[in-house]
Amino acid sequence: MLKTSGYAALSASSPLVPFHFERREPGPREVLIEILYAGICHSDIHQARNEWGGSVFPMVPGHEIAGRVLRTGSEVTRFKPSDAVGVGCFVDSCRKCGSCREGLEQYCDGHISFTYNGTEQDMKTPTYGGYSSHMVVDENYVLKISPRLPLEKAAPLLCAGITTYSPLRHFKVGAGQTVGIVGMGGLGHMGVKFAAAMGARVTVFSTTREKEKDARSFGACDFVLNRDPEALASRANSFDFILDTVSAPHDLNVYLNLLRRDGTMTIVGVPVKPAEVHAFSLILKRRRLAASLIGGIRETQEMLDYCAEKNIAPEVEIISVDKVNEAYERTIKADVRYRFVMDMRTLRA
Ligand code: NAP
Ligand code: ZN
Ligand code: ZN
Repeated sequence: MLKTSGYAALSASSPLVPFHFERREPGPREVLIEILYAGICHSDIHQARNEWGGSVFPMVPGHEIAGRVLRTGSEVTRFKPSDAVGVGCFVDSCRKCGSCREGLEQYCDGHISFTYNGTEQDMKTPTYGGYSSHMVVDENYVLKISPRLPLEKAAPLLCAGITTYSPLRHFKVGAGQTVGIVGMGGLGHMGVKFAAAMGARVTVFSTTREKEKDARSFGACDFVLNRDPEALASRANSFDFILDTVSAPHDLNVYLNLLRRDGTMTIVGVPVKPAEVHAFSLILKRRRLAASLIGGIRETQEMLDYCAEKNIAPEVEIISVDKVNEAYERTIKADVRYRFVMDMRTLRA
């Protein structure tokens, strides 16, 4: 067994604290990774505080993981020591169901092993995530990171990046379309960059006036404060696609009414309370309300390569691991530009 250090939530109401545990030795098809950077996703906060229910403690959060291969099992073919690699929101899946076979492992009909707050394929061994020094993952669930992507910026792509890229691709967002991004946090700011790179005209809907300049620098051509009813009304029936990344309860009908006929709004944010949707918000213009969960391994690799090629990367604030609890509070207040990434070497210091 491999001694591993990390940070864990011991209960839903206590701050994260240093935590020591063991990882298994890598099996023949597994890779031992030294974690160098771990992003802080709002899903980490929802789960560490048991806001969605069903959280299991102790919990080592973290599913935006970038690092280097330390050692590989004897049958590993895709990686060698010192390769730059990433791990996202899941570390295994059933590999047999239709979704797994199609490379859409995130929608596995069998058992998906989430990177933390989940279990391995035996359905009992708990998984521990990226707020840690090392991890051991089957090579099929490890992503390659191009040398053109700095590792600290690659980390948030493993969740915030793929979660916004995948629905934009699935719904074929492209040149000439009008796209709205609701909420410009970790996910939202990547949504703006991707939609702009795909050729769309992007509008950001935000609660934070101070983000306007950044929104425009990320490629948005319009910025609307979402507490400004007149600004919202003047944009009614004008969007082909809206991506809602907001982490807190809010009125979806406001944004549905901005879609033009046959437009689609896709939800990726997961507020604690269920949303109420008025049928008229949808039926009057045959609008669609959809949702999307992260992305499969194949598409995550495609997204990482797209970022390397197009020079797209998140804006990050690098912090030491002991600042994690402060970072949670600032993320909840939307006071982060735009993703906290922990330098995991500070764990060893
Ligand atoms: P984040 O960095 O905290 O960003 C959320 C943004 O929502 C904030 O920056 C803020 O943007 C806006 N916001 C926050 N509170 C609000 C409120 N009360 N009313 C209106 N807007 C508000 O969070 P994130 O890491 O991007 O995650 C966003 C959500 O997506 C979370 O619920 C997370 O669990 C979920 N998620 C889902 C998936 C998936 O696969 N579907 C994957 C990852 C994360 P402005 O300052 O611009 O208003
Ligand atoms: Zn996430
Ligand atoms: Zn499956």
